[in-house]
Amino acid sequence: MRKKVIAGNWKMNKDLNESQSLVSGIISGLGNDDKCDVIVCPPFTSLSEVHSLIKDTPVKLGAQNMYFEDSGAFTGEISPLMLKSVGCEYVILGHSERRNIFGETDEVINKKTKKALEKELKVIFCIGESLAQREDGVTNDVVKNQIINGLDGISADDMKNIIIAYEPIWAIGTGKTASPEQAQEVHSFIRGLISEKFSSETAENLIIQYGGSVKPDNASSLLSQPDIDGALVGGACLKADSFLSIIASA
Ligand code: PEP
Repeated sequence: MRKKVIAGNWKMNKDLNESQSLVSGIISGLGNDDKCDVIVCPPFTSLSEVHSLIKDTPVKLGAQNMYFEDSGAFTGEISPLMLKSVGCEYVILGHSERRNIFGETDEVINKKTKKALEKELKVIFCIGESLAQREDGVTNDVVKNQIINGLDGISADDMKNIIIAYEPIWAIGTGKTASPEQAQEVHSFIRGLISEKFSSETAENLIIQYGGSVKPDNASSLLSQPDIDGALVGGACLKADSFLSIIASA
């Protein structure tokens, strides 16, 4: 039985004080409840402070991005070991905002994924189609390509440290959610692909999160689908009460 994983992607929100107060609210609402795994992904500038607040709690820390080199002349970039040094266990890679605004290709995301795993960071690997692609009926082809190219050279053993987040781009930050049935259909397709590419055991153990306007009022119906193992939450993770309510649904 897969344990549900709820992750909050704070994006470019929350300065240091705001981060401390948000994470304090999450910790106090959660207590020692570890029925599902909870990950918070603040901006880089808050990682260290958030880590000192969560370190004796069940909440885990993730970053929103990283570069695929260890160190060097890469102005403005952050390495996986830097993330580990401030307490990160996870890193989000391939988010559609990274792909679309910052031009990250499957090849770049593949390099980042390999480097993160090499340095023992777990990866939340994001994929998903645009509205035009869904309307053209190519959703499965798009997610298949993102998986085949983005996970090129990754072993079944590596897959133990990867979460796939299916995030239809048309549902991110738009208030439009994929229906539980639409999301389940793609999640089941993804699990089938992983089974073909790796093994049925790898597919059975893989956590596949849904992301795209998950809110307290739609979380239960999404999370009750058999292949939806958690959520990657944007807007609704910026207030402790709404994030806690999504966690409670899980
Ligand atoms: C996200 O950015 O990963 C996301 C799912 O955002 P939102 O929940 O705001 O749609």
